[in-house]
Amino acid sequence: MKLTIGIDPHSGFCNGVVRAVQQAENYLQFSPRLYSLGAIVHNSVELERLKKKGLEIISIDEVAQLRNDVILVRAHGEPPATYELARRNGLQVIDCTCPVVLKLQERVRDTWERLRKTGGQVVIFGKKGHAEVNGLVGQTGGGAVVISSIEEARELDFSRPVALFSQTTKDPVEFATIADYFRSRRPDTEVYDTICRQVALRHKSLVEFARSNNVILFVSGSESSNGKVLFELCRSINPRTYRLENASQIDMSWFHDGDKVGICGATSTPKWQLEEIFISLQAVTQE
Ligand code: SF4
Repeated sequence: MKLTIGIDPHSGFCNGVVRAVQQAENYLQFSPRLYSLGAIVHNSVELERLKKKGLEIISIDEVAQLRNDVILVRAHGEPPATYELARRNGLQVIDCTCPVVLKLQERVRDTWERLRKTGGQVVIFGKKGHAEVNGLVGQTGGGAVVISSIEEARELDFSRPVALFSQTTKDPVEFATIADYFRSRRPDTEVYDTICRQVALRHKSLVEFARSNNVILFVSGSESSNGKVLFELCRSINPRTYRLENASQIDMSWFHDGDKVGICGATSTPKWQLEEIFISLQAVTQE
C-alpha cells in the first residue's frame, strides 16, 4: 500500500511540559530518584521513559509521609496548601509550574480578593478535579466555582457580580460560547480568556492539518484532557481521525491506497513519539 505520511510541524510538547521534563531529567542526572507529585505529563509512554531514569509518581497523601526529601511540582501547578505541607515536612520543591499557569493563579487570587468584598464570585471553566483547576481553586481558599458545561453555568447565581476564567487547555470555541452566555445573563461579567496561546494556536493549525490529510493519527495518552479536546477537534473536521498511544495500535484497515496520512498529537505528546509512529507506519507500508 502506498501512503504519503507527514508529521504536524506544530505538534509536540508545549513549553510548560518541555520545561518540566527538562528539569526532571537534569535532576535525575545527579540523583537516582525524584518524586513527582502527580504524573509530570499525561502520557504513559513518556512516563515509562522517565520512570526508567528514576522518576516516581506519588500522590499528595504520599507527600504527607515524606520528610526532608525533594518533590517536583509539575507544569499544572498546585494549591498553596501543597507548598505549606512541603514547608512543614522540610521538603525541597522543584517548582515546574508553567509561567502561564502561575500568572493565571495570580489573576484568580487577585480577582477573588477584590470581588469577594462586594459579594462577587469567581467561576472557572475547566475539568473538575484536574490538577491545574485544583491549583486555581486553591488560590481562592476553595471559594471559586468550577463549571464544565453551559448546563452548569445555567445553575449559577447571576444576581451577584461574576468573573469568568478558563483552564489553560480548554477549547476556545466552547469558552467563547460560555462567555457569551455569561454576558447575556450579566453584561458586566468580567471575562478573562485565559486559554494558553499555544493551545489556542494549536487549535487553529490542527483544523488546517486535519483538513489537508485523508487520515489523521492523533497520538496522546488517554488521561490527557488537552488530548481529548484536540482529538475531538480533529475528528469533527476529519471523520477518519484515530487516536492511539503507540505504534502497535495502528490498524491497517484505516488506510486506503494513495492516502495522505497526518500524524499529530496533544501538548503532552513528545515529538519523538510522533516520529516513532511515522517510522513504524512507513516500515509497514514499504513491506
Ligand atoms: S498548555 Fe500552555 S499553560 Fe499549559 S503547561 Fe503548556 S504552555 Fe503552560
